[in-house]
Amino acid sequence: MGINSIFKLKIIRILFLFLVGLCTTISIFFDLETWLIVNFEADKIPIFGFHNIINTQNQKSSYGLDYKKQDLAEFLEYLVRENYWFLDTDQLYNYFLTNSQPIPTEKIGQKAILLTFDDGYKNINTNVLPILEYLDQKYNQKVKVVLFVNPETMKNPKKIKKYISCEELKIGINKGYYDVQSHGFSHKRLTELNSPELKIELEAAQQVLRECTKELDNNQTIATHLAYPYNDSNSQVENYTSKYYVSGYLYNHQILKLGWGKNNYKLPRIKVDRNTTPSRLIEIAEISSSVKKEERRFLGWRHFNIFLNYL
Ligand SMILES: [Zn+2]
Repeated sequence: MGINSIFKLKIIRILFLFLVGLCTTISIFFDLETWLIVNFEADKIPIFGFHNIINTQNQKSSYGLDYKKQDLAEFLEYLVRENYWFLDTDQLYNYFLTNSQPIPTEKIGQKAILLTFDDGYKNINTNVLPILEYLDQKYNQKVKVVLFVNPETMKNPKKIKKYISCEELKIGINKGYYDVQSHGFSHKRLTELNSPELKIELEAAQQVLRECTKELDNNQTIATHLAYPYNDSNSQVENYTSKYYVSGYLYNHQILKLGWGKNNYKLPRIKVDRNTTPSRLIEIAEISSSVKKEERRFLGWRHFNIFLNYL
């Protein structure tokens, strides 16, 4: 073998080792495979955010986020007919965000979604509850809805006409339809509060909601999750939130993707307004992945990444 050939072989060997080294570095530091899976194949759960629900036959809509009862009924009936799984906040947290409980086998294959309603309007009882009862009777299925409530409205005589009362909340919980969670005590912008004010908004909301529902809530599931008022949060707010609540909900027009590196205090929601048609809502709901047995498959990678972050 001539000197030239030996030299060429050496170059090839060096190039080969260099490429192997590069690929290993990339796969370790960027966890390429997991990144690809998470971004293109990650299981998705759409979380919808409604506000007031209006019956346009006898109520006037005054607010861009009002949604028509008739349109909501159409959307919900579609979901029930298609056998969607209406998660509550604890189920999302335990089965999908923390994998702390195994998914019940009867739920495998269903598409999971979460329906939330902010601000605790009285119309939840007037307009939403009758739809839920109708669907229950017709299809024998309980649709669970999440209510993010500011309990200050329950104590304020000026607001009680517009907002849900403690007694009304209890009616929906008792019937198995409502999952009651916190939206802060009095809907203050949490990013503008000092520490004691922030503490009051977060703590008082939880206390008052739990006090109202104490004889119904054996599992302490009420007010364990928070939706940030005005969709406004920062690291200080997240930090305080984590002292009282296990997760925090935002609005960012994104669909929740399950996988690693997620912050449970930045859960994405899709804001629904009066221009969102029921067919658009159905399109988004259909993005939901069918629930699989092995939702835990990323857990190993997730821990590996957390470990890397600490290095
Ligand atoms: Zn709000």
